[in-house]
Amino acid sequence: GMIVADGIRAAAGRTPAKTAIIAGERRLTFAGLIERIDRLAILAHDGLGLWHGDRAAILAPNCLEYMEIIAGLSSAGVATAAIGPAASEPEIRFICEDSGARVLFVDPALEEKARAAIPASVEKVIPLGPLYEDLLARSSTRLCPVDVSETDIFSIPYTSGATGRPKGVLLSHRSRVLSAFCLAAEHGSYTPDDRAVATTPMFHGAGLLMALAPVFFGGTVEILAKFNIEVLLATITRLQATSVYMVPTHLAALRNLGSKASQFDTRSLRTVASGTAPLSQTLKQEAIAYFGEGKLYERYGSTEAGVTSCLRPQDQLRKIACVGLPLPLTRLKVMTADGRQAGPGEVGELAIASPYMFSGYLNLPEQTAEAFRDGWFISGDLARIDEEGYLYLVDRKNDMIISGGENIYPREIEEILLAHPGVAECAVTSVPDAYWGEAVAAFVGLRPGAAVTPDELAELCRARLSRYKVPKAFIFVETLPRNSMGKVLRRELKNLLPQAPA
Ligand code: ATP
Repeated sequence: GMIVADGIRAAAGRTPAKTAIIAGERRLTFAGLIERIDRLAILAHDGLGLWHGDRAAILAPNCLEYMEIIAGLSSAGVATAAIGPAASEPEIRFICEDSGARVLFVDPALEEKARAAIPASVEKVIPLGPLYEDLLARSSTRLCPVDVSETDIFSIPYTSGATGRPKGVLLSHRSRVLSAFCLAAEHGSYTPDDRAVATTPMFHGAGLLMALAPVFFGGTVEILAKFNIEVLLATITRLQATSVYMVPTHLAALRNLGSKASQFDTRSLRTVASGTAPLSQTLKQEAIAYFGEGKLYERYGSTEAGVTSCLRPQDQLRKIACVGLPLPLTRLKVMTADGRQAGPGEVGELAIASPYMFSGYLNLPEQTAEAFRDGWFISGDLARIDEEGYLYLVDRKNDMIISGGENIYPREIEEILLAHPGVAECAVTSVPDAYWGEAVAAFVGLRPGAAVTPDELAELCRARLSRYKVPKAFIFVETLPRNSMGKVLRRELKNLLPQAPA
């Protein structure tokens, strides 16, 4: 069947000597990459005794080896669970236990933490470095005899666990191959001339896809171990990069660079894609001003459904707060609370059907069943679709605040506060209130040197919002708690509340 490594093999057949991956001082050609993938498949099968259907895990920051390990092991029918480099010991233990990983590949700097955390079910820990290179060298490049099918699992990223325990998301070969092809169709690019920079964490579904997709079409990707805005811009300049994926916090870091940003030359970029979390209109306009018109794409997606929709550059100023049209082969429908299909402009829960949908949550048959209705994935996002078929996200269903029977969408309020020149970031949520039970509160981080009062912000909200939506409290914070993809960790916001006097 259609397996990920064969996409890379096809590119290697056409341009064996071309550079596929750059990471720091290291480079891999396409021939080198596919050779290492083949060696990993044989290592899994012969050297490590991993069988079709077994699992492994990787605990590392973005690195040269990340893609080859997942592509190589999955060519032997072994799916890899991905653990973020900042994971705590209990998180590492949980993912190893839940995935049943028998082998753990680990960045040498994280080996000690890993060894202290892993359960007995992990039989072998392989630090990336000399031992790993030696195992590869002693393996072989003959084709792995395992008959892997397109419905076999390629990788298992874990959700952040914002709503309960982290869930392992089963992503098949088929889902990754079709994701890459649908993205290419959407962007009308992805050619062997592409040079992409991958700076989002590869333990996330999106981060891995952003590194994998360009290579699939014969392009080159430079992998950055971790995000740093100046390093990213310097890399784009040196590589003459043609595409980059930046989450909204990356774009905020760009804005914070101020005039320093003009030292870099990003004119080679054709595609600047953003997504993962809401991108405010203010930040979007600043990004367009910096990179130039005709380059910014905003995408909406999830670990489970992959990239669902995309707003193209030509629509950025025409469609405000919009995440665009569905990707080729993806279908959308909005369902009202009473189970009807919503009309144009009507808000409801977004359901998604696509051929690159995840295969289920690992070990969670009930949650998997609940996630689908009549074959449609129930996204948990509240949305509306306009007459032209464009999608608008209203908010996540779980983040909606109900106050006095009224629905309040935090995003609407956040968007207004973010338009204030002194506001760098903000998150609106409900907090316990002695009188109201629950009250709307805004956590606000200010730009350096800005002097903003709560009254001023309340005034701004009152001018644009119904009274019941205006936050009752404004809490100024240094920075908002965020995960490695820049998403606000809403459940941690309440820890930032000033302690009530005893
Ligand atoms: P969990 O499901 O455990 O809460 P998570 O939020 O990290 O984890 P992801 O799959 O990474 O899960 O995130 C998917 C969600 O991110 C979407 O359902 C949507 O709410 C949000 N999202 C993605 N792209 C955008 C975007 N362009 N604008 C606004 N929100 C977005």
